[in-house]
Amino acid sequence: MTDAERSHYRICPLCEACCGLEVRTRGDRVVAIRGAADDVFSAGYVCPKGYALKDLHEDPDRLRRPLVRRDGAFVEVGWDEAFAEIERRLVPILQRDGRDAVALSVGNPSAHKMGLILYFSRLAKALGTKNVYSASTLDQMPKQLSCGLMFGHWLSVPVPDIERADLLVVVGANPVASNGSLWTVPDFRGKAKALRARGGRLVVIDPRRTETAEIADAHHAIRPGADVFLLAAMVHTLFDEGLVALGRLAPHVSGLDEVRAAVAPFTPERVAARCGLDAAAKGNPVAIPGQANRVAAMVAHLAPKSLLVPILAGRHPGLK
Ligand code: SF4
Repeated sequence: MTDAERSHYRICPLCEACCGLEVRTRGDRVVAIRGAADDVFSAGYVCPKGYALKDLHEDPDRLRRPLVRRDGAFVEVGWDEAFAEIERRLVPILQRDGRDAVALSVGNPSAHKMGLILYFSRLAKALGTKNVYSASTLDQMPKQLSCGLMFGHWLSVPVPDIERADLLVVVGANPVASNGSLWTVPDFRGKAKALRARGGRLVVIDPRRTETAEIADAHHAIRPGADVFLLAAMVHTLFDEGLVALGRLAPHVSGLDEVRAAVAPFTPERVAARCGLDAAAKGNPVAIPGQANRVAAMVAHLAPKSLLVPILAGRHPGLK
């Protein structure tokens, strides 16, 4: 009975793409890991790190029990002993140097493991330190702060609907490599291919010719740090051309006049040189024929219906 092969369906715990896995086991041994074909989200896609979970699981160096350093060497101990050691050494540090003498760091699996989801924040609160670090604090806190201020919660992050978009503009992100990170889009390459197959277009704005830029209809190699000017010019153009129509969202929006005033100086012509996009680009699929200024062309063409993806979390959890 224990020798019969069985399938278990799980979510890959390694990154936010949340690919569905089919884990084949015989007894307590993992015999294979592959993408779960029926997963509605990832449809069988899995990156090399997902396949490597079997190796990670069986790695002889994997930590399976707590280790305590004694006389310069790590020694395996039981959980009771580990907690006693923590109590013995941590409490005096807190008493002597204060709560901020402790720093906590938590990795990506914290978003996938019930125990960590439930208890990490409680532990952080109990310790009372302000030094809490995670994969998020490396690169996505500005996005989460802005989402918290705009939508009420730091996890209310709007994501593009790539499966229905006609035009996808990716600003400063490389989802072919990252599978979206905060966006959570497993198999971005396949989804971008489907977008183009139904007549949609992918435009990348990035100083670097990324893997995503390689498969895009257009890549604008903007000068580093200039994306804020380009985005301000896009918003300027929306106001300038009377394209701001709030409709049923009007009761939920405040500060529109302040935004209009803030972006008023940022005309496409003014930001072009700063963005390094001032030359007319031959064959540029975004440019409008006859328009010499590439930024103006891009702004005018994109602004009315663009689906902007200002993903600030450009992590690259997928292997190339
Ligand atoms: S992209 Fe790779 S690492 Fe991320 S969830 Fe999917 S299989 Fe796991």
